[in-house]
Order: sequence, then structure tokens, then C-alpha cells
Amino acid sequence: MTAPDERIEVQRHADRGEYDRQVIYEILDEALYCTVAFIHDGHPVAIPTIHVRVGDRLVLHGSPASRMLRTLKAGAEASIAVTILDGLVLARSVFNHSMNYRSVALYGVAEEIADPADKLEAMRVFTEKILPGRWDDARRPSDKEFKGTLMLGIPIEAASAKIRRGPPSDEDEDHDLPVWAGVIPFRTVPGPPLPAPDLDEGIAYPEYLRKRYPG
Ligand SMILES: Cc1cc2nc3c(=O)[nH]c(=O)nc-3n(C[C@H](O)[C@H](O)[C@H](O)COP(=O)(O)OP(=O)(O)OC[C@H]3O[C@@H](n4cnc5c(N)ncnc54)[C@H](O)[C@@H]3O)c2cc1C
Repeated sequence: MTAPDERIEVQRHADRGEYDRQVIYEILDEALYCTVAFIHDGHPVAIPTIHVRVGDRLVLHGSPASRMLRTLKAGAEASIAVTILDGLVLARSVFNHSMNYRSVALYGVAEEIADPADKLEAMRVFTEKILPGRWDDARRPSDKEFKGTLMLGIPIEAASAKIRRGPPSDEDEDHDLPVWAGVIPFRTVPGPPLPAPDLDEGIAYPEYLRKRYPG
């Protein structure tokens, strides 16, 4: 379980709130990106970015010049939201339309991952998140690229998940209305691979990619 903290108590539909680490980790691992909110110069800012989970830390990376990373490195508290859309929920009433989702809210203060071995491991996890097998295929970071990447870790402590599943919740008096009701399932589906325009024709689509994304 995440640490008890009144900031992370789901209020409305409290039954949809989850605080189990495994549930939170699965959502963080499946979601491809997050939105990071923070206060900069007194104003709220929200920036989408890639995240990975390395153990019990959520890790963000990028250019040391990024405002988001500079601000978090300086100690600003981050508020991070992650959402996976699972379906459109069509109710008999307009009011009860909704979405099925799995989401996570996380609060914390980042620390730089400066240890070279930890930083390289976080780079590996970022690469493998984009596609498992890439780390062993693509060129590893040069010294300049390694130094030019800032890696920040936020402890997954003040974190909650919220999950909506299942059919629409219609009012009893609406059940006999002649209106279609149900769920349109949603998922992120990859398209056919598009080779880079300058890819050498002799380079075949690799087997580890084909297994996941048939060409
Ligand atoms: C795809 C999607 C669509 C949504 N559409 C709507 C909408 O149209 N209208 C609406 O009112 N709500 C919507 N929600 C739900 C919304 O995220 C909040 O849960 C909702 O506003 C109720 O918040 P609250 O006032 O109970 O809690 P708040 O007081 O806002 O939050 C208290 C704490 O609960 C936790 N929490 C709240 N919501 C979530 C969440 N979604 N995931 C993880 N932790 C959470 C956080 O730790 C937060 O700090 C949607 C959620 C998703 C993922």
C-alpha cells in the first residue's frame, strides 16, 4: 500500500480508489506517458512527458535545459497524472455518460539520479519501455548524450489509483427508455511499421519487433 496521506484520498466514487502498490505499478507501467504539473514563477504548468517506473520510483528524463526538469530538480513539488482510457460509457441519459479508465495521481519531490550505474539502468528502462529488445539493438548513449540527459526520480509514496469499469450506471426510471446503452471499448492499437525513408534496404525488420508488431 502507498503511505496514508489525506491528499491521495479519492473522494467521489471512493469505491473506485485503489492504494495497492501493485495496482498502481501496473497502471504506471502500461501507460506510455504522463502529465507533470508544477508551479513555476507562481503559475501552474502541466507538461506531458514519457515516464518509466524503476522499482519504487517514477523516473522522468530529458534535456537539463527543460523548464519542467529544471524546476523539479530545484525542489518544486510535482503532481503527476497518468490515464489509460478503456472505454466510452454510453448511458441512456446524457448525465450518466462516462468513460472507463485506469488512472494514477502521484505527488512528490524529485531527486536527480546522478549515480552513473543507476542512470544507465534508467536509460535502459526508458528504451525498453518504448520497445522491449531495443536496448540490445540500438546504439548505446555516447558520453555526450549520457551527460546531456537529466534523470529525475520521484518516490512512489503519495499515490492513488482510480478505476472505472463496467456498464453505464443509469437511473432506475431510465432503464425502459428506447436508447442504446453500453460501452465502446477503447485501446491504443499500433499501425503497420513505416521504415525510415533513409533506411538501408538491406536492413530487415527484426524478429523481436515482428513478434510484437507484425509487419
Ligand atoms: C478519463 C477520465 C475522465 C474523467 N472524467 C471526469 C469528468 O468528466 N468529471 C469529473 O468530475 N470527473 C471525471 N473523472 C474523475 C476525476 O479524475 C476525479 O476523480 C473526480 O474529479 C473526482 O475527484 P474528487 O473531487 O473525488 O477528488 P479530488 O479531491 O480531486 O482528489 C483527491 C485525491 O484523490 C485522488 N484521485 C482523484 N481522482 C483520481 C483519479 N482519477 N485517479 C487517481 N487518483 C485520483 C488523488 O490522489 C487526489 O489528490 C475522470 C477521470 C478520468 C481518468
